[in-house]
Amino acid sequence: MAWAVSLPALSAPAFHDDARLHDIASAVSAERIEKDITTLVGFGTRHTLSDTKSDSRGIGAARRWIQSEFEHISDDCGGCLEVFTVRGVISGEPRIPDPVEVVNVIAIQRGTTDPGRYVIMSGDIDSRVSDVMDYTSDSPGANDNASGVAGTLEAARVLSKYSFNGTIVYAALSGEEQGLFGGKILAEKAQREGWRIKAVLNNDMIGNIEGVNGVINNTTARIFAEGTRVTETSDEARLRRFTGGEVDSPSRNLARYIDKLADQYIENLDTMVIYRLDRFRRGGHHRPFNDLGYPGIRIMETNENYTRQHQDLRSENGIQYGDTIDGVNMEYAAKLTGLNAVSLAAMSWAPSPPAEVTITGAVQPSTTLNWKAANEKQNPQLAGYKVYWRYTDAPQWQFSRFVGNVTEAILENTVIDNYFFGVASVSKDGIESPVVYPGPAGSFGD
Ligand SMILES: [Zn+2]
Repeated sequence: MAWAVSLPALSAPAFHDDARLHDIASAVSAERIEKDITTLVGFGTRHTLSDTKSDSRGIGAARRWIQSEFEHISDDCGGCLEVFTVRGVISGEPRIPDPVEVVNVIAIQRGTTDPGRYVIMSGDIDSRVSDVMDYTSDSPGANDNASGVAGTLEAARVLSKYSFNGTIVYAALSGEEQGLFGGKILAEKAQREGWRIKAVLNNDMIGNIEGVNGVINNTTARIFAEGTRVTETSDEARLRRFTGGEVDSPSRNLARYIDKLADQYIENLDTMVIYRLDRFRRGGHHRPFNDLGYPGIRIMETNENYTRQHQDLRSENGIQYGDTIDGVNMEYAAKLTGLNAVSLAAMSWAPSPPAEVTITGAVQPSTTLNWKAANEKQNPQLAGYKVYWRYTDAPQWQFSRFVGNVTEAILENTVIDNYFFGVASVSKDGIESPVVYPGPAGSFGD
């Protein structure tokens, strides 16, 4: 006796494991990160208002060293990085009263087929002590935030051995502690020049594993991701009220994407997606990008130690204060750097996230998703699209189906009211973009 077996008409790997992403994660070196943090700490202070002329002390020396490091990395890959500075003069601000040139050091690894699509990894050059205006005292800023800059340099070293469809930006930003000025200057330049930014991965403090509350843990990290976009119009807010999207901004779906990559490619690391822009009433350099509507998140340690942040170097009642290098766990910083590198690589190999995603299905027993076909020239690696859905109170996408290279998917007998839906694009290698929630609330742009 025989009976018919119906095979799915379309197939894509249900579970894709990419050897290159494992290689990238394991290529990150804790030793090189330690060497770079040591060099950065060696500049004495990197305060935004500190000396810019000396070759051994102050932020000028630090940023010239970072630029030369990016140039060395570029030399090793046949000139694959565009290295330059992005500057702006700031004055009349509470923390920058007199004119100061805020200088970011940038390296761009240009994408091969979609050079106008960007993912950005950032860390901050500048440091501070107890008085935010004290620009002369020793301010090692080992964890806050030499760790983020060292991670960014190391990601450039590792990823510059590969080529990608999309563009990767490695950014060492300045002026963070004085009011997020370096990020603002870069975000405004990106907007002026029409960069199609799909992700900003801001790394700020990625090396501390000993919490001020006594918790010691090197197996978790946090991804801060804002909810609704601050650029949302009142019409968009009204639409969202009736269709959802409060928990599905592109920043949130970027965070879910990184969380999934951590589970798959980074050993002994579980990330906590936090439904907040940043820590309670505190800031970081992803915010100036979020301010302009770009998807962006903050990656950082779970357990912060406030005796080591923004403190004059001193000993008081037996407590050692200050952000010194002995407070940085290099293996942990390497682990978080690996997570960044894997996320940048996956997004840059994947096709662009689907654009113009819409959804219909009210009072029907099916749900229909539509989206715009990807630009073929920019996305020759596209295999098709994958529809995702989840229960409305589930933190992570739960169900999925590969639907092929189409621009519409109908989920029969799946009632729109009971789930949240989204669409990802999938490459021929099986690498996916983040999931895009329908409508303006979830859009990653064109
Ligand atoms: Zn800080």
